[in-house]
Amino acid sequence: MAEVTEEAFRAEVLAFLDANATPRGEEKFVWGEGSDRVTLFDEKSRDAERHQLEQAKAWRAKRYDAGLGWISGPPELGGRGLPASYDRLYSALESRYEVPNQSFFGIGLGMVAPTIQAHASDEVKRRYLPAMYRGDIVGCQLFSEPGAGSDLASLQSRAVRDGDEWRVSGQKVWTSGAQYSDIGEIICRTDPDQPKHKGLTGFVVDMHAPGVEVRPLRQMTGGASFNEVFFTDVRVPDDHRLGDVNSGWTVALTTLMNERAAIGAGGAGGAGLVSMARLTELLRHFGSASDPVLRQELVQLHVDLTVARLTNQRALDKIKAGQAPGPELTTAKLALTQNMTRAAEFVCHVLGPRLTADTGEWGTYAWNQFVLGTPGMRIAGGSDEVLRNIISERVLGLPKEPGIDSKTPFRDLKVGTQG
Ligand SMILES: Cc1cc2nc3c(=O)[nH]c(=O)nc-3n(C[C@H](O)[C@H](O)[C@H](O)COP(=O)(O)OP(=O)(O)OC[C@H]3O[C@@H](n4cnc5c(N)ncnc54)[C@H](O)[C@@H]3O)c2cc1C
Repeated sequence: MAEVTEEAFRAEVLAFLDANATPRGEEKFVWGEGSDRVTLFDEKSRDAERHQLEQAKAWRAKRYDAGLGWISGPPELGGRGLPASYDRLYSALESRYEVPNQSFFGIGLGMVAPTIQAHASDEVKRRYLPAMYRGDIVGCQLFSEPGAGSDLASLQSRAVRDGDEWRVSGQKVWTSGAQYSDIGEIICRTDPDQPKHKGLTGFVVDMHAPGVEVRPLRQMTGGASFNEVFFTDVRVPDDHRLGDVNSGWTVALTTLMNERAAIGAGGAGGAGLVSMARLTELLRHFGSASDPVLRQELVQLHVDLTVARLTNQRALDKIKAGQAPGPELTTAKLALTQNMTRAAEFVCHVLGPRLTADTGEWGTYAWNQFVLGTPGMRIAGGSDEVLRNIISERVLGLPKEPGIDSKTPFRDLKVGTQG
């Protein structure tokens, strides 16, 4: 394939965007104008969700058909074969245009697709990867269970071999986007006689297969972005296995590494999630602009968001220069959640009781969804406590947590009594 210079690629992308999307106007926040919704989780009705999904899929298909849907993917699978830096260049250019909400594809393309690419059979790669990048199908992550979150290796969903197939039974929970997903990456226990990190296997499962039941979970923000997913004797062909039998922990780690990188790099410390202009106007509008404590909180947040954004940029620049990033990406997710938590506290301090009852006043009660969404961010993609453990051990070199039990068979562990 002929080499495409960065300059030529930029011109190609801009021509595509100019022909298919509208440039964003300058966004100036004016108190009382436009929508006062501020959310961290996308809260919408099922109808609105369906409609937005259709628009999102149409946009991805247009990108893909123009050769811009899988920029760094291998050409033999329908990718463009360009360096990963061209992906980032595309994203930066696209962010200047109004395009349909692409969050539906975050987990599928950010985490599931790279895992399929690393561990699936050639047939499964050919079948699913082009369709995922074109937006024809959406993927979800079926890892967490009622008894297995931070300690993922305690999971109990079982897959039992049956000829050329596996039969999967069990329950997953907190599955984001399962309600509109077509495939899922599932990790199951395939050998309870092995220690808990060893007897696991990953699969690609058809979310429309008989025996798969998706039940929405309503969160305290009011929406239902997550689900419980029940598997009852679901048949999965052996060629949909990811990696070797009982090597699912390696498969899971591939996904989790991509998850942290996606959350950390994408979040830019929260700078893109909350607007300083909106927070400043909030303070001004309620006559608290001369309150020294609130002013201090606001400026501290500004400083923290700026530091997080620059730290993130440093990591991305190192990657671009071909160097391994240092601890920046490990701390990125923690910085993101800390900044969002501080922003929520600031909003609570300014609004006080206005946050608790809906009087219809613009820009007050609407902050609820943001404030109630921040605790979820502290858990998703590795909880704050678990990330602090990682930073203290791997970055600061502090003594390790007591080691995992790598010898006892899973069925003899207390957690495995049902397994
Ligand atoms: C917004 C959101 C989206 C999600 N989406 C998905 C999804 O799409 N797919 C999916 O599979 N899962 C998803 N999850 C689930 C998520 O992965 C789990 O919630 C997470 O791994 C924590 O597990 P848990 O909820 O079981 O909490 P637990 O692991 O039980 O943790 C409970 C508490 O104990 C602390 N803790 C646990 N272990 C340690 C330790 N070693 N040291 C110190 N403290 C510890 C935790 O920090 C936490 O405060 C999502 C969660 C959220 C909030």
